[in-house]
Amino acid sequence: MTDPHRPDRWPVPDSVLRRLRSDPEDDITRAAQDPDGFWLEQARQYEWTREPTTALTWNRPDMQWFADGQTNITLNALDRHARGENRTRAALIWLSETGERQIYTYGLLLEQVERAAAGLRHLGVQPGDRVVIYMPLTPEGVIAMLACARLGAVHSVVYAGLGVGALRDRITDAGARVVITADVGYRRGKLVDLYGIAAEAIAELGGVEHLILWERIKTYQREHDARTVPWETLFTHGHAPAVTVNAEDPLFILYTSGSTGKPKGVIHTHGGYMVGTAYHLRQLFDVRGGDVFFCTSDIGWIVGHSYIVYGPLVAGATVLFREGAPDFPDTGVLWRAVQEYGVDILFTAPTTLRLFMKLGADTLKPHDLTRLRVVACAGEALNPEAWRWAQEHIGGGLGEGAHAAVIDHWWQTELGAPTLGTHPRWPVRPGYAGRPLAGVDADIVDENGQSVPDGQQGHLVIRRPFPSMMRGIHGNPDKYAQIWNENPAGYLSGDLATRDEHGYISILGRSDDVLSVAGHRIGSADVEDALVSHPAVAEAAVIGIPDELKGQSIIAHVILRRGFEDQVGQGLRASITEHVRRELGPIATPAEIRVVEALPKTRSGKILRRLLRAQALGEDPGDLTTLEG
Ligand code: AMP
Repeated sequence: MTDPHRPDRWPVPDSVLRRLRSDPEDDITRAAQDPDGFWLEQARQYEWTREPTTALTWNRPDMQWFADGQTNITLNALDRHARGENRTRAALIWLSETGERQIYTYGLLLEQVERAAAGLRHLGVQPGDRVVIYMPLTPEGVIAMLACARLGAVHSVVYAGLGVGALRDRITDAGARVVITADVGYRRGKLVDLYGIAAEAIAELGGVEHLILWERIKTYQREHDARTVPWETLFTHGHAPAVTVNAEDPLFILYTSGSTGKPKGVIHTHGGYMVGTAYHLRQLFDVRGGDVFFCTSDIGWIVGHSYIVYGPLVAGATVLFREGAPDFPDTGVLWRAVQEYGVDILFTAPTTLRLFMKLGADTLKPHDLTRLRVVACAGEALNPEAWRWAQEHIGGGLGEGAHAAVIDHWWQTELGAPTLGTHPRWPVRPGYAGRPLAGVDADIVDENGQSVPDGQQGHLVIRRPFPSMMRGIHGNPDKYAQIWNENPAGYLSGDLATRDEHGYISILGRSDDVLSVAGHRIGSADVEDALVSHPAVAEAAVIGIPDELKGQSIIAHVILRRGFEDQVGQGLRASITEHVRRELGPIATPAEIRVVEALPKTRSGKILRRLLRAQALGEDPGDLTTLEG
């Protein structure tokens, strides 16, 4: 029998329902009956230079949305608001780790973006050119993104916590002509030398013509790359209007880790991405004009693209974002911001909730969080304990009297916007991400594309395209086609899942060797590549093991090159760890380096990570018949 204090499904109390504005049911029905009509109606709420007359054009795996439409996402994210009543509304509220604050109204943000775009145009940036943005989480980072979009150039933001090797690979793969960076970023009070990393990354890359440098602290001296252009000079060339682009023209490339090889550059477009991201801001997150929406992600990730920048701005909302760790300089900093700025909706990651769960509810107590009405989580599974804790201490309780709904939802870099979720009106089933959202045709299938019965594990697939999905992988059409063609049922997410009798889906994890550390996807292949580029390492295999706070932590197994054995115990492990950190950045740093004599492999030479994982966790390794003799 179900424990009455821990029911399977938690209904949303009236005290929360009364505060919500959106209701998904009609949209879900309409989108299922007439998806094209539904999405076209959504699209027509925006400003188009030429209004689209068609929704989906589908020639699997190639999709187009609103193919005959023309616009520019910045027309909708900036001009539309800055020309009207929203001119004086705050578009961005930014807080720094050092206590700084900046507020940009829609009018001011448009003005800055027009100028930055004119400066980039002056440097020769053309529609379709790729610009890599390696910036800390600041308004300048957002302005850089929007300025590229305004010109029809394609930005590729690289998370400022990634290292030299990761940055170099992305600049090369994207074929970027311009890189935009800052002198420093802040991480827990320490300065990170972003310019130094960027200059090193492009040192050998002749294709990069300009390295634009925003100097936020003028005292940071170092050698300059000859291609360096000061950020300020961009703002001296007048104002650039939005370049009209086709709905299907690329807006950005964002790199994400796949199961094999180098990270893949996921391509998103102006039209479909705009319609999809803004739709869910209003529908799933329940944001309305006048609300303050706080997103704790970073512009380096898809959540930051969709829900710090494009979704909120297209919808005309006020977005709050903050550079720095959620518990630095003190554990109250996040909750003080929620109270001081009157945050209505919070979008965060389970790892952040678990951090505060560990620190204890006392860290929240001094702050009034009652204005919050939705707390949405994504990036990794919201485990039942963390949900319960957050609903109790952030949402105001598990029953009547609660003020906010704490909800899980699932999506991916490739999907651009929420795909499965527990709408704040729907009962919560802890451990389940939720149901397919409007316009999403998702299923759980076996290897042959047959639906599996409820309760059985299978592959999570998407049968029919929706507007915010990726259009391709930069320079790798085969990889893109494979994602749509590997399973006959549709787009293969790479996640394993089960469904319950109410249609709620629980995500069980990846079916491949991708790691999930603090909500970020990291390819085991990338970490292994970085390990073997250390002079002492001959071969490497990494696995993720459960970590209370971060979801997973990385354990690296390495076989040493001959002659290095006696350096173990003399700082060799630290040197290998530091090397990976430098190449890939802190999030990919192994928690432990294990020096081994051999790695378990199949007869075909594939490393059996499953076996390493079982060994690390002291579990039964399962079927070993394919193990090399
Ligand atoms: P990314 O593209 O980096 O955002 O990573 C997407 C991956 O993160 C998904 O394929 C899942 O493995 C995982 N993920 C994202 N959201 C959730 C969620 N709500 N529950 C479980 N896993 C999630």
